[in-house]
Amino acid sequence: MYKFKIVYLPEFLEYLQEKYTLWAPAKSGTETEFKVISSFAEIDQSRLNTTLNPKEIFFPRREVLFSYDENGIKTPPPPEKPVAVWGLRTCDTRSIRMLDEVFSNAHQMPEKEMFKDPYWINKYADSLLISQACRQPLSTCFCNWFNSGPFDETGSDIFVIKGEVNYYLKGISDKGQEVLAGFAKAEQTDEKDAAEIKDLQAAAESYMSPALDISDLKSKLDKIWDDPLWEEIGAKCINCGACAYICPTCHCFDVSDEGKAGKGKRVRLWDACMFQLFTKEASGHNPRSNSLNRVRQRVMHKYNYFVDNYQKFLCTGCGRCVSVCPVNMDIREIIKKILAHEI
Ligand code: SF4
Ligand code: SF4
Repeated sequence: MYKFKIVYLPEFLEYLQEKYTLWAPAKSGTETEFKVISSFAEIDQSRLNTTLNPKEIFFPRREVLFSYDENGIKTPPPPEKPVAVWGLRTCDTRSIRMLDEVFSNAHQMPEKEMFKDPYWINKYADSLLISQACRQPLSTCFCNWFNSGPFDETGSDIFVIKGEVNYYLKGISDKGQEVLAGFAKAEQTDEKDAAEIKDLQAAAESYMSPALDISDLKSKLDKIWDDPLWEEIGAKCINCGACAYICPTCHCFDVSDEGKAGKGKRVRLWDACMFQLFTKEASGHNPRSNSLNRVRQRVMHKYNYFVDNYQKFLCTGCGRCVSVCPVNMDIREIIKKILAHEI
């Protein structure tokens, strides 16, 4: 494990910029989101989680797939440099790895059925994900329900812990180790550093509420698709879509054509199953015409269908949807209600 003094962070980030396009949390009005950073001063590390999620880096909310005019079709050029992300939280790193399974089709699907999304792959290829331990998790954090925690290194290329004087940095992937070995200010940690890290981890974990056992959640959901419980769960939702928009793992999109014959573009835009028009068919029929159907779809996709396809829940417990819902729907309470429901 390496360390360098906190004051050397700007130098470390400049070092990363030699090889990478650097993304990091930055102010966006009163909120924070990941942005391409040109100088250290632009970074905002005052919040634990960014308000907006990091899927934007590899899966932008609006992306031109191609444009066309009388000279032919143009697709976006590949990025000049790979992406490095500073300031991810461990839940967000896990969410990016989950989306990679979807867009790069990295799981065990038969070769002939695979579809690999070139737009995601172009941006994601050779990227460096640097996650930072959460020293003081929020009351909305529940990553520990998913076998994770504030010091979970899973999926990181480099895992960072901010100490009192030093940043401690662990190279998890070969790529991460190579980057750290090449930074001139990085030195090896000693026993005193190991003791500080241990204390910080214990303190961070003490902020978390005890984890709920959700091992039965999927099998419970298998049995309640048409249970009246959904009427109770879905009643409050106003289908604003904020929870899906802000969620780092939701990845539904729409494709639309802009322009006219002879000149225009095809764009991909984030969409959400919580919107009424998402499933409206050309005939006018809508298989998810009411709130109950849409809330059930979101819950089922995250905690049931995704488990069937990828053997994991499509949720990291980041708590963003808990913070943003205007009618205070709390996904943790929904999960508890489902688990406690008598069939
Ligand atoms: S469902 Fe909520 S808690 Fe889970 S990943 Fe999405 S925003 Fe985070
Ligand atoms: S944020 Fe709340 S009200 Fe809006 S769609 Fe999600 S659950 Fe429904």
